[in-house]
Amino acid sequence: KKRTKIKDILQLAEANVTVTVKGWVRTKRENKNVVFINLNDGSTINNLQIVGDPTKFDEATLKKITTGASLSVVGLLVASQGSGQKFELQADTIDVLGVADPEKFPLQPKKHSLEFLREIAHLRPRTNTFSAILRVRHSMIFAVHKFFHEKGFFNIHTPIITASDAEGAGEMFRVTTLDLDKLPKTEDGKVDFKEDFFEREANLTVSGQLEGELTALALSEIYTFGPTFRAENSNTTRHLAEFWMIEPEMAFYDLEDNMDLAEEMLKYLVTYALENCQEDLAFLEQRAKDEESTKKQEERSELSLLERLRFVADNEFVRLTYTEAIDILRNSNYNKKKKFQYLIDAWGADLQSEHERYLVEKHFKKPVILINYPKEIKSFYMKQNDDGKTVAAMDILFPGIGEIVGGSQREENYDKLTNRMKELDMDAESMWWFLDTRRFGTVPHSGFGLGFERLMLFVTGMSNIRDVIPFPRTPGNAEF
Ligand code: ATP
Ligand code: MG
Ligand code: MG
Ligand code: MG
Repeated sequence: KKRTKIKDILQLAEANVTVTVKGWVRTKRENKNVVFINLNDGSTINNLQIVGDPTKFDEATLKKITTGASLSVVGLLVASQGSGQKFELQADTIDVLGVADPEKFPLQPKKHSLEFLREIAHLRPRTNTFSAILRVRHSMIFAVHKFFHEKGFFNIHTPIITASDAEGAGEMFRVTTLDLDKLPKTEDGKVDFKEDFFEREANLTVSGQLEGELTALALSEIYTFGPTFRAENSNTTRHLAEFWMIEPEMAFYDLEDNMDLAEEMLKYLVTYALENCQEDLAFLEQRAKDEESTKKQEERSELSLLERLRFVADNEFVRLTYTEAIDILRNSNYNKKKKFQYLIDAWGADLQSEHERYLVEKHFKKPVILINYPKEIKSFYMKQNDDGKTVAAMDILFPGIGEIVGGSQREENYDKLTNRMKELDMDAESMWWFLDTRRFGTVPHSGFGLGFERLMLFVTGMSNIRDVIPFPRTPGNAEF
């Protein structure tokens, strides 16, 4: 009576075997002579159709079989008469494991809005859309590790609690065991973290990069893939307060090596999805098409989801400098409406996702790697270029997403790095451990960060980042 997964049942070569299946009812139809139940167990997007003779089951049991109820069914697998599936199950016994009161169960068989489903994030994995996304998410996690493993990179766990602010962006969540009502104060009125657990201020990590650099300058090629926390104060469709980031860090890589690796990785991951998530992607593609059809003509994407994925897998990314990109924006038709004027008036502004998406979707119609950004808008650790104005940064921009990867060659020269820290009024002393790598056996090195949920947005064709992570953390949202 061992359970067989529906995925495995649908791949059997032959029918006429007795099997036990367990899962959740998606739909039930019945008349006097026959009852049809569509059962799903999450192992695949496909349901197994269960056929029963209503006279074989008592009425109370049949009544309990409603959408959302959980069942264990034993029966004979037979070739299916109808269209669609190869097999159906002729039920011999049906046990109702758990009922789902139709008056109260929110996921009735109809189309629910994504907004509504976000409010019931605890139940949404029971829908086709979210179970498909979660299976694709698993495949992508696996593919990330597979890619780096095959290239000989080592996976490093960098700390989640840290005292350092890698990005200097001040978007950190404080970690404390202090009683908030009785915070000890120093003489000048500041909270005295000496009395706290770590005996200093501690935060949730915003990036594993600095610790990644420390290990790369020993193991040559490493990557981290861990949770990252940023108190992003704006509600966008591209930012979460808790997201997962893939951060490779490589000794002996310059900016070009860095770009080559990032491009190869993105193509590998997208190709992996195309080859290994076919059924779920076919479902998500149809879902995306339905959503597109509700948009205005000019806002519709020219390519379907699978076409977009293939396009990235097959085409070389365009590489150009920030300054060249500004020139393109300045001369673009789009700028006739003066949309980009502020960028043009002052070289040095950061690009908004609107600009990034113009370059990718309208101008080049290809993924774009922008390099050599103004140093003022990038972090202190990036390698300073000889022009004195720019740093060896790279951002990879994707259609529908904007920035998906941010990276750079790192400044390996001790004097240049500490001078830059002084210019930025940073406390170099507290980062003695980081600077030690530049004092002892420094080498050119590079790395980047790929936002895992941004990749998931691209691969699934979803348009809100809250919908590609099981339990999104955004302002005001931490209940479950
Ligand atoms: P953005 O400009 O979109 O705010 P960023 O430049 O602040 O991103 P980085 O510090 O470069 O982000 O982080 C590396 C990558 O992590 C980004 O390219 C992006 O893919 C992802 N990322 C950054 N912030 C978030 C967030 N709040 N939620 C989800 N992914 C994020
Ligand atoms: Mg940001
Ligand atoms: Mg950015
Ligand atoms: Mg960035």
